[in-house]
Amino acid sequence: MCRHLGWLGDPVSVAALMLDPPSGLLVQSYAPRRQKHGLMNADGWGVGFYADTDEAGVVPRRWRSAAPLWGDVSFASVAPVLRSRCVVAAVRSASAGMPIEASASAPFTDGAWLLSHNGLVDTAVLPPARHAESTNDSALLAALIFDRGLDALGATIAAVAADDPNARLNILAANGSRLLATTWGDTLSLLRRPDGVVLASEPYDDDPAWQEIPDRHLVDVVDMHVTLTPLKGP
Ligand code: GLN
Repeated sequence: MCRHLGWLGDPVSVAALMLDPPSGLLVQSYAPRRQKHGLMNADGWGVGFYADTDEAGVVPRRWRSAAPLWGDVSFASVAPVLRSRCVVAAVRSASAGMPIEASASAPFTDGAWLLSHNGLVDTAVLPPARHAESTNDSALLAALIFDRGLDALGATIAAVAADDPNARLNILAANGSRLLATTWGDTLSLLRRPDGVVLASEPYDDDPAWQEIPDRHLVDVVDMHVTLTPLKGP
């Protein structure tokens, strides 16, 4: 189980999202407050974002690692100048038997989208994907979701849950102008700020404005507009 965070709004630094908050992903990597599975998230981390200055257009830029976020000697000095309107970040607690390598850390990409998975799914129910970035369940699930298309995210999650009733399938995805998330077995909170919207596995501070997203829902954020849709179980 891992913890993830997404941002869509005005440009902010990835440090302001991940490192500075009192209970941000940095602190969640060793002391998560709402995590139901696993004690800490020390098996890697990753951040992906889209840069306004990118002449190549909408290209996700990623930094991933297999080491704990708190041990990175360089990220804290660079993160304050990495600014973006759209960010997906995660810290990882590898499930038993899964590889610990940078390519197994979220966010995964298909070229335009960034995607993170909180949870666990039996890899036997996922079709083999030659283009998966790693062999862990989250990378295989990401490949399946990319294949089916993000517009089918809710249907894909319900179909995987039908094949593996024990699966936990909290997804967070972004494409530079849209944030999408599912809740299926784990926590997710939403914060509407004046400058944008945050979706996070758990609140990064004690602001009373954080709202809990109910289980088995799809969250779709475009501009400052949030749409919540119930997902149908198997
Ligand atoms: N099943 C995941 C993995 O090992 C656990 C981490 C997570 O919640 N994404 O890759």
